[in-house]
Amino acid sequence: MPVAKDTMIEVIDVNKEYRRAGAIIRALVDINLTIKSGDFVIIQGPTGCGKSTLLNVMSGLDLPDSGKIIFDGENIARATEDRLSKLRRQKVGFVFQDFNLIKTLTAIENIEALLWPTVLSSKEIENRAIAALRDVEMLERKDHFPVEMSGGEKQRVALARAIVSKPRVVFGDEVSGNLDPDSENVIMSLLKKINEEYETTMIVVTHRDSVAKFGNKIVKMDKGAIVSIK
Ligand code: ADP
Ligand code: MG
Repeated sequence: MPVAKDTMIEVIDVNKEYRRAGAIIRALVDINLTIKSGDFVIIQGPTGCGKSTLLNVMSGLDLPDSGKIIFDGENIARATEDRLSKLRRQKVGFVFQDFNLIKTLTAIENIEALLWPTVLSSKEIENRAIAALRDVEMLERKDHFPVEMSGGEKQRVALARAIVSKPRVVFGDEVSGNLDPDSENVIMSLLKKINEEYETTMIVVTHRDSVAKFGNKIVKMDKGAIVSIK
């Protein structure tokens, strides 16, 4: 009998709106969603439907107006910025559309930089960065600067940086948004491999249908609401 999976994130009755020039935009409308530890969740929907807003409130980058976000047993919907930054540092990795690598650092230095400040020795930091680069099959590019890598390679380094601290959850926002179809397949397959090998919970938001096949749970959104969960 398979072991029942723990709940990783529970979103309960979450709402969020933005006010801009007198107009109110309802970005999240009565969102309820349960994500189990080890799930690979794809959140899909058209541009502007609230995907990034949902990712931001689940990952402690932003706060909802109402409702609860239970992250690994703790309600973070009303947490202080100190508490949220600690949670992000200890339990979360991020991969964004634009890679967000530091231009003046090499691939391995970009990954090592995430581990500072730390009590680890510089040798241990290097070893962990090398292991993460190996996980994304990028060890041979470790001394390349971002300008010396393709978009797909930069995103693999960004993924190595996201997993180097062994987070419980990796959040991806349009991770293949700037990539060609082949590179999209490579990065999504690597996310899947890491999901299976380390049981890292993956939550990827995308407007592209081609990404859905990598998930075991597909959440569709429209106009700030969840319209289906499969
Ligand atoms: P998606 O990621 O699905 O494209 P977002 O979550 O970024 O959608 O945005 C949801 C809606 O909220 C959109 O209509 C967007 O224009 C609006 N929005 C997002 N961020 C802000 C903001 N900081 N201020 C005002 N409106 C915003
Ligand atoms: Mg978005």
